[in-house]
Amino acid sequence: AELAALVAGASIDVPDFPKPGVVFKDLMPLFADAEVFRRVIDGIAAHHGPGSFDVVAGVEARGFVVAAALAYAAGTGVVPIRKAGKLPRKALSASYALEYGEATLEVHEDAFVAGQRVLVVDDVLATGGTAAAAMDLVERAGGTVSGFTVLLELGFLNGRARLSSRAVRSLLTV
Ligand code: 5GP
Repeated sequence: AELAALVAGASIDVPDFPKPGVVFKDLMPLFADAEVFRRVIDGIAAHHGPGSFDVVAGVEARGFVVAAALAYAAGTGVVPIRKAGKLPRKALSASYALEYGEATLEVHEDAFVAGQRVLVVDDVLATGGTAAAAMDLVERAGGTVSGFTVLLELGFLNGRARLSSRAVRSLLTV
């Protein structure tokens, strides 16, 4: 509840971004506030408990901010899940449908040790397409998804339903 209030207090609703009719939740103020950022990251680390995951994977680009800080706090490494065409070595790809067109995420094929427990993080869960693709990539690359955590979940978009078999956690659901 305390973490939910922190997220609520540090996000800004931006109407008509990235297009008319959409209210974008801007979490940059949360990242920029030293005290809020520290408490949110420490809160996520404490929830999962020491030793419950081996590495953090973050989704480009805002997920990187959460992932790197969490990994540092938890004493693990961090693996970036990137947009298509950014990774320098052999990568696995997962494409998913957007409202218009499609998006592709990639991860290096050797990013994980077989069986490594991977906590996947992003800033926001919306329709769930990004999360589903990220978790598929982790598993295809040999990792075991230990959970998926976001700061904010847009509950009315029902993304969680697409991820039904996974352990999904959000600090705040709106
Ligand atoms: P989904 O694939 O679940 O529809 O969209 C989630 C992805 O889009 C996440 O990577 C997230 O960063 C981004 N996203 C979608 N809506 C929002 C939003 O309102 N605020 C922020 N900060 N990111 C969003």
